[in-house]
Amino acid sequence: MKFGGTSVADAESVLRTVGIIASSHGGGDEVAVVISAQRGVTDQLIAVADQAVCSRDASVVGPLIQSLRDRHMKALEGAAPDKAGEVAPVIETCLADLANILHAVVNLRELTPRSRDYIITFGERLNAPIVSAALRQAGIASAVLDGCEAGVLTTDQHGEAMALPTGERRIQGRVTPLLSRMVPVIMGFMGCTQKGVVTTLGRSGSDYSAAIIGAGIDADEIWIWTDVDGIMTSDPRLISDARVLSSVSYQEVMELSYFGAKVMHPRSLEPAMRRDIPVRVKNTFNPTHPGTVIVREVPCDSRVVRAITYIDRVAAININGAQMIGRPGVAREIFSALAGNDINVMMISQGSSEANISLIIDEYQLASAIEALNPLVHRGLVREVTSNRDVSAVAVVGGGMIGAIGTGGRIFTALGAAGVNVMMISQGSSEANISFVVRQEDGPRAVRVLHDEFHLSEESDE
Ligand code: ADP
Ligand code: ASP
Ligand code: MG
Repeated sequence: MKFGGTSVADAESVLRTVGIIASSHGGGDEVAVVISAQRGVTDQLIAVADQAVCSRDASVVGPLIQSLRDRHMKALEGAAPDKAGEVAPVIETCLADLANILHAVVNLRELTPRSRDYIITFGERLNAPIVSAALRQAGIASAVLDGCEAGVLTTDQHGEAMALPTGERRIQGRVTPLLSRMVPVIMGFMGCTQKGVVTTLGRSGSDYSAAIIGAGIDADEIWIWTDVDGIMTSDPRLISDARVLSSVSYQEVMELSYFGAKVMHPRSLEPAMRRDIPVRVKNTFNPTHPGTVIVREVPCDSRVVRAITYIDRVAAININGAQMIGRPGVAREIFSALAGNDINVMMISQGSSEANISLIIDEYQLASAIEALNPLVHRGLVREVTSNRDVSAVAVVGGGMIGAIGTGGRIFTALGAAGVNVMMISQGSSEANISFVVRQEDGPRAVRVLHDEFHLSEESDE
């Protein structure tokens, strides 16, 4: 069971979480728990780390440490009053470590990807001992493990590390033996390299941790506890009448999360999918709701489109130049230049005239992408590279679109009727996703129009 930031944000939510774990454990299940940072804490850590490196001013450190101390001590005292004496020093040691590292960043004016990764794991480091203490307060044996202790081995891509399959044996050796005698509480979001260097798994990475651990212990199911009833037809913050899907496929959720649906980390389904472990998404605040189950194949659903999402932190790059016509090597040059600079290309489209290639990338990589492509202009391979930050990518997702005729026509007719201008279109090879690019300001409206066009608010026969 993984509990996200809102499910473990304060004493009250920690107690609710402990109630959920206790009822499953009391019913005879063996449970391993993965914990996120309290809501907002990772953002705070990132902001202060960035400020610390930019200024020679240590004054940002004190207030952060004090606010983290207040928040976590309050949660500890509220959720585990009898254990506070024993656990408060653990939290103090953690805060002292964090303060030391941040002071080093200020003094050295250097924040390497490696030290940044270590700093941003402190939300989980502070929170896991509280949840474990609250379990013990409720009479359930429990111990805390950080990601590395639990056996989560990763690549050394700091900030976006990927799990190494060799970690599974390690997890099995370290976590599985604990399950018959206690509920281990494992810090999400982090792992370590073979050499023991701490890494993070990308924002929202605790979902990924849960799947990595679930695969390692060969869990019957992986449960992701969050603050909505399940995976919905669209983000409920945008579409107020979005509906909960009772089941979705791994592939559909991967497409959704890749295109920004914040409900799950994009890579988190890979380990579960490899072992065919069902993933259940449930609401901590409404635990009797059945939630969504994510499996390989969903039971028959006549709907071709099941969910719609959009992402606005993207940028479009247009590469123009007739020089590309009939020259087979140009596309290779473009993509190797980008890959060589670790730029992740989310969408590609090439005009049939071959005079133009358009790409969608993460907005924060735009400057390095342009830098990587400029040499191609200088070498005369392409004429010009232009970019546009004011765009959103919208993804229309549904396993039923595979082989269905006319879905694209329906999508673009509805958008045209609503006056939404489509700047670029791409269909993934999976065919379970049709994605397109619109002006940033049109993103939410495009989602609304298509949610209505495919009647996603209405009950289906799933
Ligand atoms: P947690 O802290 O539990 O990991 P997140 O905030 O990361 O929770 O993810 C849950 C949020 O994802 C929901 O509150 C919801 O606003 C958002 N969300 C975006 N798209 C969807 C979707 N299709 N279905 C459900 N929730 C979604
Ligand atoms: N705390 C991390 C984040 O905010 C990981 C997570 O919550 O899943 O990104
Ligand atoms: Mg999340």
